[in-house]
Amino acid sequence: PVSRLPAVGTTIFTVMSALAQETGAVNLGQGFPDFDGDPRLMQAVKDALDAGHNQYPPMAGVALLREAIAAKIETLYGQRYDAGSEITVTAGATQAILTTVLALVHPGDEVIVLEPCYDSYEPSITLAGARTVHVPLTPGTFRPDFERLAAAITPRTRALIVNTPHNPSGTVWTEAEMRTLAELLRPTPIILIADEVYEHMVYDGAAHQSVARYPELAARSVLISSFGKTYHVTGWKVAFAAAPAALSAEFRKVHQFNVFTVNTPMQYALAAYMADAAPYLGLAAFYQRKRDLFRAGLTQTGLRLLPCEGTYFQCVDYSGLPAAVATLPEADFCRWLTREVGVAAIPLSAFYRDGFNQQVARLCFAKRDETLQLALGRLQQHL
Ligand code: PMP
Ligand code: GLN
Repeated sequence: PVSRLPAVGTTIFTVMSALAQETGAVNLGQGFPDFDGDPRLMQAVKDALDAGHNQYPPMAGVALLREAIAAKIETLYGQRYDAGSEITVTAGATQAILTTVLALVHPGDEVIVLEPCYDSYEPSITLAGARTVHVPLTPGTFRPDFERLAAAITPRTRALIVNTPHNPSGTVWTEAEMRTLAELLRPTPIILIADEVYEHMVYDGAAHQSVARYPELAARSVLISSFGKTYHVTGWKVAFAAAPAALSAEFRKVHQFNVFTVNTPMQYALAAYMADAAPYLGLAAFYQRKRDLFRAGLTQTGLRLLPCEGTYFQCVDYSGLPAAVATLPEADFCRWLTREVGVAAIPLSAFYRDGFNQQVARLCFAKRDETLQLALGRLQQHL
């Protein structure tokens, strides 16, 4: 067989966005804002272009940006990463995840993911010739189940991928959970891949539990975050990986033959823009208001709201709707919702290996208030 990824088709995000476009539905499926980033950030790009920052940057990223990232992590989470040897700028978190896995995971290894999980993890692990071990998060609450996690660890376990705040459930790990994780990993050599792309979207006064708050975890972790999420520029595909020098050195060996470098002007623009902490510090309040507006509107429908502690995703349980739709599998329900109600959503089953159905759909609220109102009007009318 020629295919390295025989089970992989077009991602659900692309499929649902195409269906939304075709049907004119409000697209609350694929996660991206329908508004632009800060005009000051756009101006910073223009300034970088005009300043002639248009040739290859250093392989690991523009130094100013790596220094800004290191300073931010230290200020917020306490861990000091060396900008020279421990931070690498990547073409999105997707590349950072694949590069981490290709650099550190060997054929025959096992990598544990906590299901439901983002759809790029398993193909990345498969490309490394390793086996994905799926450990379910606790059904219903989507909190980590440490007993099951402990039971899944074997001498072959090379890495564990943890995503907090969590896509799709919106769960945010607690300090107690991080400490339990640290204890569990202590006697093992397991590398922790920390997908923290939603680090600045944590609500109700809770704090993001970065691995960079826990020196013991940071020492074995590759911390990944994405400017696409933080600055409303998902199309820029600029992110970073922070890891101890030995891990970063291996990461960079793959990185330099994968993309070599990431586009220069955006890196200068981001470095300049990061000097102001207000945009990322204010992000939680910005999205919490949208979450609250969206949730308030959804209470006027037959959908049951799941908790949303972080991210820009709200999950809804549709099992209380009239039987004809309540019994639809999630993928069919989301297609029906898109075509008949005019609101596109993502089936939670897309985040499970075996397509597990629990009558839950994911809606993205990273939208202008008018867009959310338009979607809510349709949902209230039909559901
Ligand atoms: N991880 C998670 C959990 C995500 O939701 C996303 C964005 N969809 C990514 C990684 C990829 O981020 P990027 O767009 O920066 O590649
Ligand atoms: N991360 C986004 C989501 O979960 C989409 C990314 C993508 O389209 N691959 O919706």
